[in-house]
Amino acid sequence: MTHTAPDMEISEELVRRFDKLGPRYTSYPTADRFHTAFVDETYGTYLDQRADRSANPPLSIYVHLPFCESLCYFCACNKIITKDHERVGEYLRYLDQEMALVCARIGKDRKAVQLHLGGGTPTFFNAEELGRLMAMLRKHFAFTEDAELGVEIDPRTVQPDTLSMLSGLGFNRNSFGVQDFDPEVQKAVNRIQPLEMVEQAVIESRRANFQSINADLIYGLPKQTLESFGRTLDNLIRVSPDRIALYNYAHLPSRFKAQRLIVSSDLPSAELRLQIFLMSMRRLLDAGYVYIGLDHFSKPDDELNKARLDRTLHRNFQGYTTRAECDLIGLGVSAISKVGNSYSQGVRTVSAYYQHIDAGRLPIEKGFELSQDDVLRRDIIMTLMCSAPVEFDAINRRYGIHFTDYFSPELERLKPYEEAGLITLDGEAIRVTPKGRLFVRASGMVFDKYLGQPTTSTYSKLI
Ligand code: SF4
Repeated sequence: MTHTAPDMEISEELVRRFDKLGPRYTSYPTADRFHTAFVDETYGTYLDQRADRSANPPLSIYVHLPFCESLCYFCACNKIITKDHERVGEYLRYLDQEMALVCARIGKDRKAVQLHLGGGTPTFFNAEELGRLMAMLRKHFAFTEDAELGVEIDPRTVQPDTLSMLSGLGFNRNSFGVQDFDPEVQKAVNRIQPLEMVEQAVIESRRANFQSINADLIYGLPKQTLESFGRTLDNLIRVSPDRIALYNYAHLPSRFKAQRLIVSSDLPSAELRLQIFLMSMRRLLDAGYVYIGLDHFSKPDDELNKARLDRTLHRNFQGYTTRAECDLIGLGVSAISKVGNSYSQGVRTVSAYYQHIDAGRLPIEKGFELSQDDVLRRDIIMTLMCSAPVEFDAINRRYGIHFTDYFSPELERLKPYEEAGLITLDGEAIRVTPKGRLFVRASGMVFDKYLGQPTTSTYSKLI
């Protein structure tokens, strides 16, 4: 069966053939390749190299706030379930010290164009605590007038003044975890949040002048049916967020303890997941949302779509972004940074985090230094992830290679994608076709030289 929509044609046969287990490429190399030979001082050296502010890119800052009041059974995040709000004060004090350690290396008042608070549940923090956090961030970094300040919001934590308070602190983008509106599904994953709660939060976000509102959905959750998820989509379309992320639930109970609380026999079959996915694509496209890539949709006038059309879309650890070429500074437990040609990830537990900072050390657990070949492959993979053309001449000039010689085996491996109409290859560029946009992860994997090597990670499929 084929489902058509304004600019995409999705066939079940293509999904079955090209939807492979693979990384989501929020980085290349992917985080499962990071290793512990990369230590805090390695990260420090990369920060030092950025101390000369005349030649350096602006910053994007991510802060991981790990606390949550209750456990969602599908969760794969690094979080701490607690009702003890006293823990926030201590965590904030350490965040302040971590910012000081970073700024001692890269310099104070570095220009920042983007901030994202993720978790965990950032809104576990109350107004005064979030105010303190923003004051610290502004003390250490110089946010530009037009900086994007984003925050993940759990609708269950929204009080009447939460959205206006966040707006008052400068936040102009938010993202709500919706997942599914069906009461049976919500019960099965231990996350009860009625439709009215989300609807109200979106209305208040608009009133508080948030410029972009995102909602996350997850399909493949226990008790979902085609009809029930169709109702969830219809309701969300009526609520009308600017962006929708439609994630595929990966059930990995051996890796994520919380998922052991999900009854496996309640999970939809692979065939049903495929039907849910195809129905969701069609319904979102029919409702006027455009497909940005991987799991992301937006309204046509959203800046993500504008960036997609004028080829300034980029991908980083937060997904798709319009802010190119920033250094990413991750703060807090398990946060990932990207500085120069390096990636690094923070220690996972709060106790290890506090110990490192008490010892005056950057709280890094592992990382990766990219070779020139890694940087080149990253460039190609991220271009494909954004469905933009990979132009050989431009790559040749940028990296001093001859594309068709350097990537001769990869071009050969792309042939089945060309034959299936997912890309075009004309000796000058790789171009993703409209129907190939759904499979960019698979075409990107052709350029991933680490895929054959052992990994600690369990990859997921798109569907
Ligand atoms: S899904 Fe979000 S709110 Fe739920 S436990 Fe995980 S981090 Fe916390």
